Amino acid sequence: MQDCIFCKIINGDFNTEFVLENEYAVVFKDINPKADTHLLVVPKKHVESLNELNDEALLGKLMMTVKAAAQKAGLKSYRTVINTGKEAGQEVFHLHIHILAGNIRL
Ligand code: AMP
Ligand code: ZN
Repeated sequence: MQDCIFCKIINGDFNTEFVLENEYAVVFKDINPKADTHLLVVPKKHVESLNELNDEALLGKLMMTVKAAAQKAGLKSYRTVINTGKEAGQEVFHLHIHILAGNIRL
C-alpha cells in the first residue's frame, strides 16, 4: 500500500531497526512508547485491521511472533493490545499487535 506508513517501514524506507523479522511479520519499537518496552508486531501483508483479516493461520503466526519477540526482549510478563477501528484508538490502518511491558500507560 503506497500511503501506508507501516508498509513503508516493512519496505525499509526509513531504515527502521527490526527487533525480529520472519516470513510473516516484522517487529519494531513504537515511536511513542506507552511503556518501558513497547513493540509492534506487524504483518508483512497489508491488512487494514482485524476486521479485514480472514487468514486464521496468519493470526496464529502473528501471536507466535509476539511470543518470540517478547522472549527475545527478555519479557516474562507483558500485555498485548490490538486496537480495531478509529473509535477504539486505531491510528495506523495496517494491522498490528502492541506488546507492552513495564509501567504500562495504555
Ligand atoms: P494504533 O493506535 O493501535 O493504531 O497504534 C499505532 C502505533 O504506531 C502508535 O502507538 C504510534 O506511536 C506508532 N507509530 C506510528 N508511526 C510510527 C513509526 N513511524 N514508527 C514506529 N511506531 C509508529
Ligand atoms: Zn500497510
